[in-house]
Parts: sequence; C-alpha cells; structure tokens
Amino acid sequence: MQASRPVFRDDHEMLRAQVQRFVAQEILPFYAQWEDMGVTPRELWRKAGANGLLNCAIPAPWGHDGDFGHAAVVLETIARANCLGIGFSIHSDMVAPYILHLGTREQKDRWLPRMTSGEWIGAIAMTEPDAGSDLKAIRTRARREHDHYVLSGVKTFITNGANADIVIVLASTAPELGARGLSLFVVERGMAGFTSGAPLRKIGQHAQDTSELFFNDVQLPLENRLGAENAAFEHATAELAQERLAIALRAAASLEGMIDATADYVKQRKAFGRRIVDFQNARFKLADAIAQTTMLRVFLDDCLARHMRLELDPVTAAIAKLNATELQGRILDDLLQMFGGYGYMAEYGIGRAWTDARALRILGGTSEIMRDIIGKRI
Ligand SMILES: Cc1cc2nc3c(=O)[nH]c(=O)nc-3n(C[C@H](O)[C@H](O)[C@H](O)COP(=O)(O)OP(=O)(O)OC[C@H]3O[C@@H](n4cnc5c(N)ncnc54)[C@H](O)[C@@H]3O)c2cc1C
Repeated sequence: MQASRPVFRDDHEMLRAQVQRFVAQEILPFYAQWEDMGVTPRELWRKAGANGLLNCAIPAPWGHDGDFGHAAVVLETIARANCLGIGFSIHSDMVAPYILHLGTREQKDRWLPRMTSGEWIGAIAMTEPDAGSDLKAIRTRARREHDHYVLSGVKTFITNGANADIVIVLASTAPELGARGLSLFVVERGMAGFTSGAPLRKIGQHAQDTSELFFNDVQLPLENRLGAENAAFEHATAELAQERLAIALRAAASLEGMIDATADYVKQRKAFGRRIVDFQNARFKLADAIAQTTMLRVFLDDCLARHMRLELDPVTAAIAKLNATELQGRILDDLLQMFGGYGYMAEYGIGRAWTDARALRILGGTSEIMRDIIGKRI
C-alpha cells in the first residue's frame, strides 16, 4: 500500500509489532484447529489479556489507558492476518465501551478489570430470531418486580455467545413505547435461567462462537441495568459509530493482507509457460485493488483520527462501513479468481477471507441500513 498513516504514533507502532508477534505465536499455529472446533478457546483470551491486547482504549484503572489508535492496531493486525473469527473487537471495542460510558463506578469496577485480563469474555445481544435491523420489534422483555427485573427472551447470532461470561442484553421495558421503551441489562454467566446454545454452523468465521442465548425468567438485580431505563435507543446510537468504524477498519486490513498474499501467489504460479502476474489481466486487477484500497485507507484513517478527537458522526461512520465492506467483498472475489481452483480450497487463506468477509456487510447494521442512514442526510 502507498498511503502513509500519520494517524499512528510511535507507541501505536510498537504495539503493532507486539500484536504481530502474538498473532504469529498464539493464533496462527492453532487457527485451523479452532475453525474445526467452531470456537476460540478461553485460554487465548487470558493470554491476550496478559499481553495487554484487550480493552486497550479503556482508561485506567479499568483498562490499558490507551486511545482508539491502540484498539485499531489490535483489530487491524488480527484482520490483516486473516483471522476475522477472533472476537476480541466486540469484547474490547463494543461491550467494554458500553460499560465505560453507561456504567456506575461499581459496575465498572465489577466488570471491566476482569474483561481486561481476559478472565471474563463479553458479548452483546440485540438481534433476535424475528428482529435484527428493526430492533424496536424485539420480544425480549424485562419486567420490573420490586427490587429486581425478570428477563425473558431469545437472542441469536451472538458473537462470543458460547464463551460469554457477561452479556449486554437489549430488552423491552415498556413495549407500548416501541424504540423508546428499550433498556440494557448485563447478564452474568451462572445466573439461573440463562443458557447459551452450541455455536451456530456458519458459512465463514468458523473460529468464532456465534450462538443463540436463552433467557428464561432470569432474575436480575437492579444493579444489572446498564444506563437509564427506556434509554437504550439513545445509548446504542451513541456507541454505533465506533462499532461501525471498527468493522470498516477490519475489512480494510483483511483486504490489504489478501492483496499482498495474492501478489505473492501470482508471482509464483505459472500457466502457458508464464507467471500469472505476466498476464495483464492479473496486473490490472491487482492495480485496481491497490488503487481503490489505498483511497479507502486514506478515508478510514481520517475517520480514525476524527474518532480519536471524538468527532466521528454516525453518518460518516456508516459511509466508512458501507465503503469498506462492499469494496472488500468485490475485490476479494477478484482476488480469489486469480488463485484458480486453489482459491476454492479451504486450506488457502483467500477462500477463508472471502467467506469470512461476507458477514461484515450484514452485522453491525446491513449495507442497506447504512444506505438508509446516509440517504436520510440528503
Ligand atoms: C457472523 C455474525 C455475527 C453477529 N454478531 C452479532 C452480535 O454479536 N450481536 C447481535 O446482536 N447481533 C449480531 N449479529 C446479527 C446482525 O447484527 C443482524 O443479522 C443484522 O443486523 C441484520 O438483521 P437480520 O439478520 O434480522 O436481517 P433482517 O433485518 O431481517 O434483514 C433482511 C434483509 O432486509 C434488509 N432490510 C431490512 N430493513 C431494511 C430497510 N429499512 N431498508 C432496506 N432494506 C432493509 C436487510 O438489509 C437485509 O438485506 C451477527 C450476525 C452475523 C452474521
């Protein structure tokens, strides 16, 4: 890639080298095995915690006191290594910030340090079997009874769902108010009535335990409500820009890693007595991929810089997610083609990247929802 990246400082680059070592030693040698298992082992989370790779952007005393540049380095490095199934980003860049921004001092003390150490794994559960994009249609209910809430419902497609020790759950507390009657709760592993299903069988991101979660009259103390009652819609809106930026950054990094891998491949593979790279088609496809990804990178780094100044607005974050994930999908398809039959074989990274990437146009708000958000500005 040609773009310089002034958004990162020396301390970010030092962290990048550390994450690269971690990925090479602790993730890549085992990743195929985790894909077969359908889950990333809890031990990896503890190792990541011990190496300072979780909750980088959460302030002391709960996290590593970095900024979102540090968080970006972690998620980019993992994505660039073609390991999109590792669920650290949801844990560090989504679940922890909700607790940081909405939690009381007691809630932060209780949950964040154990997430930073990797002892506890976090998940966030909004989607239900009958409601994803349209979250006001959710059926999960939290009924207040004296000094506690009673939570009932089913969530699906939840990243880190099987491993999760704490789950932020979106529930309706005032069904008659629709989107304005939603609240957030933290459910902890071991609470009576809370169970998670086995990891769902997916077409990609096989190392990630994406699961259904079941809440059957779970009694939640009032202290497990996160933020104000009936204010989840506003709370979620405030957090979505970071989530979408994180997805966009992962998409771009994965794409850059695969452009490099494809350039290496076409320089080695031969057909008709020539290297594949000697066919103009391969060079032009790669040139287009590099040109478009370089433009994307400059825009995303501008979004990252804005976010580090707390100036990233939801529409710009939606533009970032839409551009990055759509471009990723289009270019990866071209790159896979250059591998011929090997592109379709599971042991080649390009096939994994292609199927893993498909989810990014769906989760965190679909491309259509991004277009809707951007279109409303017109
Ligand atoms: C791998 C993976 C991990 C996930 N992780 C999580 C997680 O950790 N937590 C969580 O809560 N959820 C998670 N999800 C769920 C994800 O956020 C939802 O799948 C997504 O929001 C879409 O919701 P849906 O599946 O119900 O699709 P639907 O909302 O039913 O959408 C179906 C189609 O209709 C389109 N559509 C819907 N509304 C509109 C509209 N207004 N205008 C135009 N088109 C529209 C959609 O774009 C889509 O193409 C995950 C999903 C995947 C695949």
